[in-house]
Amino acid sequence: MSSSERVAVVGGGISGLTTAFYLARAGCKVALFEASDQFGGLGTFFEHQGRTFERFYHCMLPTDEDLLNLLSELSLENETYWKETTFGYLSGHTIYPLNTAIDLLRFKPLSLLSRIRVGLTGLYGSIASSKGLDDVTSADWLKSLSGSEAFEKFWRPLLEAKFGDRFQQVPALWFWTRFNREKGSKKEEKGYIHGGYKRIVDTLLQALKQYGVDIYAEAPVREIDHSEENGVTFRAGNILHSCDRIVITTPLPVLKSLSSDNFRDRYLSRLNLDIDMQGVLNVILFLKKRVSRHYWVAASSADIPFQGVVETSDIMNTEDSGNFHIVHLMKYCHRTSEAFNQPVEEFKRRSITKFCEIFSHISPEDIEHEFVFKAPFVEPIYSLGYAKRKPPEEIVSGKVYLLTTAQVYPTVTSWNGSVGQARKVIAKMGFESALSTR
Ligand SMILES: Cc1cc2nc3c(=O)[nH]c(=O)nc-3n(C[C@H](O)[C@H](O)[C@H](O)COP(=O)(O)OP(=O)(O)OC[C@H]3O[C@@H](n4cnc5c(N)ncnc54)[C@H](O)[C@@H]3O)c2cc1C
Repeated sequence: MSSSERVAVVGGGISGLTTAFYLARAGCKVALFEASDQFGGLGTFFEHQGRTFERFYHCMLPTDEDLLNLLSELSLENETYWKETTFGYLSGHTIYPLNTAIDLLRFKPLSLLSRIRVGLTGLYGSIASSKGLDDVTSADWLKSLSGSEAFEKFWRPLLEAKFGDRFQQVPALWFWTRFNREKGSKKEEKGYIHGGYKRIVDTLLQALKQYGVDIYAEAPVREIDHSEENGVTFRAGNILHSCDRIVITTPLPVLKSLSSDNFRDRYLSRLNLDIDMQGVLNVILFLKKRVSRHYWVAASSADIPFQGVVETSDIMNTEDSGNFHIVHLMKYCHRTSEAFNQPVEEFKRRSITKFCEIFSHISPEDIEHEFVFKAPFVEPIYSLGYAKRKPPEEIVSGKVYLLTTAQVYPTVTSWNGSVGQARKVIAKMGFESALSTR
């Protein structure tokens, strides 16, 4: 492969930034196009009192090998820090810690027999092979291992919290991977980075500039096309660009809208790209007091407007949190749902009222600042046999590549998953040599 190729990268989230980084390192002449005014995609930030905070909670896990290797390549390995975290489960008015076998045995909402079955399910999940799990639903798999009572009162709320009413379709392989990612090490540890995720984005952008990458913000790409006569072409703003190859890293559901009619008819129509995605609504509260002793409290119930409470300041040093106690109240839902489309002020008001009811030591006066963010495309809505239906990495052989969250399965959608997928696409393009780690 010639390394003086002109390659365009569409989308400036972690997938696009990582791809541009490796391609530039391979010697390509890279141009990166991002639609919004910020780079980082779902990991972008907002400013508050002189610091930056992620719009959506983000943390690393010790098992995030591809991301941690990238950080090392960017000389950021000593900038990460790790904290032990715990998980709580709200049932009725009580938050039960659920981190050890003893915690599970004390989990009163379930009968003793169901508690034991849930424990055995966890043990089995950690040693079972993943073979065949893409063809059985999480619901059926968990019911068969833990029993109906444990499924209805324990597993079902957790699945609903992530997928809403579409939880029934999700393959057990998704559950198994997620479970082993989060409970893979004995101690539960989560990682963060000095300066927040913006630090990673800024360092990548700096590296891209040093490699001479052309970086365009507020430059939504449209009308991507390919023909034998003109090669790969697209528009950004009013300018018509051409390149040798293009890598598209946007969420899958927007792919058709950035393609020309010719490209849609000739290339996309023969692919199975009808994979829908779940969105998210998120309230962030800056508080005077600590909320709970858990990083994450699952709180899934019909009368609660959110599904979980993540106390992100638990994993942040005070230089990063600014001494605030910061919680995210999130609700995963589809972009067409009533929940997603409710007025933001309404979601905020209902969430804060319920939050203060659940955590009765917090009153509205303890909330110093609040913010709401939403995103329409977060995670694919998986269904049976998903592994065989994943979108291809190459749309036009040797010319147009796709790199998107819908491909990382069964890896959990995460920065680690996206960096891993970027490495696969780079290898497919013939630039493995740019991937060597230090
Ligand atoms: C609530 C929440 C919590 C999460 N928690 C974690 C966590 O703890 N740890 C973790 O690792 N991950 C977490 N994630 C997941 C993680 O954010 C995503 O998996 C990852 O950011 C996906 O990156 P991406 O670059 O593939 O896509 P995106 O981040 O979606 O980036 C796509 C980019 O393409 C741009 N774009 C769209 N259309 C165009 C166009 N026409 N032209 C040019 N650009 C375009 C978009 O503006 C965007 O910047 C979380 C996500 C959410 C929402």
